[in-house]
Amino acid sequence: MERIGFIGLGVMGKPMARNLMQAGYALTLLTRTRAKIEDLLSAGATWADTPRVVAQHSDVVITMLPDSPDVAQAIAGAEGIFAGARPGLLVIDMSTIAPGVVRQLAADAAARGIDLLDAPVSGGETGAINGTLSIMVGGTEAAFQRALPIFQAMGKTIVRIGESGAGQITKAANQIVTAITIEAVCEALVLATKAGVDPAKVRQALLGGSAQSRILEMHGERILDRNFQPGFFLRLHRKDLDIVLATGKEYAVPLPVAAQVRELMTAALAAGQGELDNSSLVMQLERLAQTQVKRA
Ligand code: NAD
Repeated sequence: MERIGFIGLGVMGKPMARNLMQAGYALTLLTRTRAKIEDLLSAGATWADTPRVVAQHSDVVITMLPDSPDVAQAIAGAEGIFAGARPGLLVIDMSTIAPGVVRQLAADAAARGIDLLDAPVSGGETGAINGTLSIMVGGTEAAFQRALPIFQAMGKTIVRIGESGAGQITKAANQIVTAITIEAVCEALVLATKAGVDPAKVRQALLGGSAQSRILEMHGERILDRNFQPGFFLRLHRKDLDIVLATGKEYAVPLPVAAQVRELMTAALAAGQGELDNSSLVMQLERLAQTQVKRA
């Protein structure tokens, strides 16, 4: 089996790495705070101090980091993956980053004899824990086939979309749908509450009809429970909408509703909600409506 390096073991990366270990892969790990992965190290994973050292000990290196600059630094920085790589290494970035950044990194990698796939995911922390992520992949068919058994240990729906960057374009499309749907669920539950109708019963009824969605189910439940522990940091979803709008600008595609949700997320960040789950967006709608969603 290929030796795997994994960089960035947060909300998503840690359960993904655990699933790889359970599938029998030997892992070399690096994340910002070593104390947070002592359990994986005790279970047999190896620690490395820099991405360069991770690459030296691996056949395949996965990154699951917050944003484009973090990934660019980990891959192409002075102590980065390229610095420790040999031709034949496969790099898989599973973070959500700008399509243009990953295309450039893939071109730089190819010049060194290294394959690089963009393979962002959807399905949230639950999907990461259960190994049921949707994985959307950009890069060569050969690199995709090589990575497939690794993806199968972390995900269920695994699709090669196209060439380099196509995975991140797909993820941008995904984030348009999720952001606007979260906003819709927030508006629906705030309206129900202020109109004196039990929002829990509204959610229950809507889940059986055309408005059904995973977001209504999961984010709706979080809102009713006022459980805003991430999950998915609101600041990261706002970051994704920045990527969405920059991509819209690049291709001259107006994205009017995504832009509005981005501004509401900016209001939430200004109110100090960046470290809360993205379902806490409801607090901005509640502020505007002067009400608070609660079960009857
Ligand atoms: P997170 O902040 O929980 O995890 C990121 C991890 O990377 C943290 O542990 C951090 O300490 C570590 N890190 C940051 N810089 C580093 C560096 N230079 N070297 C080593 N480690 C470093 O975020 P997350 O929720 O796990 O998200 C990771 C990526 O996946 C993001 O791009 C996010 O947008 C995307 N994503 C998240 C979700 C979700 O539901 N949480 C779902 C799909 C995609």
